Amino acid sequence: MLPIGKLYIVATPIGNLEDITFRAVRVLKEVDLILAEDTRETRKLLDRYQIDKPSISFHQHSNPEKINYLLSLLKEGKNLALVSEAGTPGISDPGNWLINLAIKQFENITVIPIPGPCALIAALSISGFKTDRFVFFGFIPQKKKRRKFLEKIASSDETAVFYESPYRIIKTLSELVNFEKIKQREVMVCRELTKKFETIYRGRIEEVIQKIKEDRVKGEFVVVVSS
Ligand code: SAM
Repeated sequence: MLPIGKLYIVATPIGNLEDITFRAVRVLKEVDLILAEDTRETRKLLDRYQIDKPSISFHQHSNPEKINYLLSLLKEGKNLALVSEAGTPGISDPGNWLINLAIKQFENITVIPIPGPCALIAALSISGFKTDRFVFFGFIPQKKKRRKFLEKIASSDETAVFYESPYRIIKTLSELVNFEKIKQREVMVCRELTKKFETIYRGRIEEVIQKIKEDRVKGEFVVVVSS
C-alpha cells in the first residue's frame, strides 16, 4: 500500500509578497498540488516566485465531492500544500476543516506546518501590550452571542484580539464603547498590515473611533485591546 501523502500547511503573505519564507517557496515547488482558498490571489504569489504548480480551489463552500477528491489524492500518496487567501491557513479560515477531516480519515497522516505571516500575531507583535497570555476572538458573531463576545472582550483579564471587516469596524468599536471596562484600556487598531496603506491607530477607544472616522478608512483590520 502506498504511504499516505503529506499535507503541508503553508503560511503566505498577508499583503506584502516579500513576506514568504524560503521553505514555503521550496515546499510549494515540490508538492504535487496546491489547494488554494482563492486561486487568483495565490496565482500572483506563484507567478512572483516562479512556482509552476497546478492549484485547485478549496474554500468554505467546497462541496463533499471536492473534499472526497482531495482526500483521495492523499490516499494515492500525493503531497498537498494548503494555502489560504492570506496568512496562516486554519486561523479563522476554512483550513482547519480540511485538516480535521484528513486527520480523521487517515490515522497516520503527516500534517506539516510551514510557519509564516499571521495577521493577529503581526498585530500583537507591535502592540506593546502583554502577550505572554492573550485571547483571540476571531471574527465577532453578527447576531447570536454578539453581545456576549463584546462583553468578554471589554472585560477580558488578558490582552484581547479580534478580526474585523471594513464594513463593521466602526459599528463594532462603537458597540464596545458601551462597556464601562473598556474605557480604561488601551486599544490598537491595525489596518492593512504590510500593505501600502498600513495604518496603526492607538489610544483610548473613543479616540481611535474618532481617528478612523476622520480617515474614512477601508481595508482589513485587526483590533487589539490591552489587559
Ligand atoms: N488566516 C489569516 C491569518 O493568518 O491571519 C486570517 C484569515 S481571516 C479569513 C481574514 C481576516 O484577517 C481579515 O478580515 C482581517 O481581519 C485579518 N487580516 C488579514 N490580513 C490582514 C492585513 N494585511 N491587515 C489587517 N488585517 C488582516
